Amino acid sequence: MGGIVALAGGVGAARLLRGLVKLVKPEDVVVIGNIGDDLELFGLHISPDLDIVAYTLAGIVDEERGWGIAGDTFHCLEMLKKLGFEAWFRLGDRDLAIHIARTMMLREGCTLSEATRRICEMLGIKVRIIPVSDNPIRTRVKANGRFLDFQDYFVKRGAVDAVEGVMFEGADEAKPAPGVIEAIKGAKRIIICPSNPILSIAPILSVSGVREALRGSASPIVGVSPIIGGRAVKGPLVKVMECLGMEASAYGVANFYKGLISHFVIDRLDAWLKPRIERLGIKVIIADTLMKSLEDSVNLARVVLEAD
Ligand code: GDP
Repeated sequence: MGGIVALAGGVGAARLLRGLVKLVKPEDVVVIGNIGDDLELFGLHISPDLDIVAYTLAGIVDEERGWGIAGDTFHCLEMLKKLGFEAWFRLGDRDLAIHIARTMMLREGCTLSEATRRICEMLGIKVRIIPVSDNPIRTRVKANGRFLDFQDYFVKRGAVDAVEGVMFEGADEAKPAPGVIEAIKGAKRIIICPSNPILSIAPILSVSGVREALRGSASPIVGVSPIIGGRAVKGPLVKVMECLGMEASAYGVANFYKGLISHFVIDRLDAWLKPRIERLGIKVIIADTLMKSLEDSVNLARVVLEAD
């Protein structure tokens, strides 16, 4: 115990974590992962955010896309398409092998956290990645007056819709997976990765006991802004925040985490927001937060580790 806990979505989180494990022992890091984006496709259980983090830490991620496995082929998906199935969710052949393995484990009676642990072990990952819950949580996005499955909104429709609301189906009944609360309680530092606060971090916070455990922690809780210079590095974050009536800026993200985080790392481009964020009772650290190279990731991870 006494390790580092990171609340994580997908690509932004994975990029920070690849730097973090160069500075601390991977065995001392627990990642609490989002499962709100999980989906079932072709009878397989797919956990996109857990996989992005796992593939990155295993060193097999497709660096350019940030998801999927480097050098993967798409023969299976192409064949499925020929057979008349929808192929909007890009699944490579090697990626599919992971989903098949996970689904088989779940069918044998494993929980999602056990299946994740086994897959990580086989991929040689020393960081402990725990899905926030073993119970299903499904993020649904309200657009044009009706709730869409998250991946319908995000991948199939390309996140073009104006978002009218977000809900996390199953969150009320979901229990934290074994180790989640213990890790938070015992952490010497907690990181809220640069992920989408509404679509990736909020589903984690929606699980009973998680928010309370974070609030009860006396250790630093350090958030990193996913918004740089008023823009998201990728994805629909800015649009979603605007649609929901929030200020789409590093300040808006800090305000969303008010009462939860002790420190917030913002980009140099957003330095002018420091006084406003400090008025929320949050200490502000200014840094270079765009992670293009491994070196960028290590430098940002160092800032997060040293924030006090
Ligand atoms: P997903 O990757 O699409 O599953 O969504 P996430 O919730 O994980 O994260 C998307 C967020 O990560 C976006 O708002 C991005 O702005 C942010 N992000 C991605 N790369 C970086 C980066 O290098 N630096 C920072 N600060 N944020 C990033």
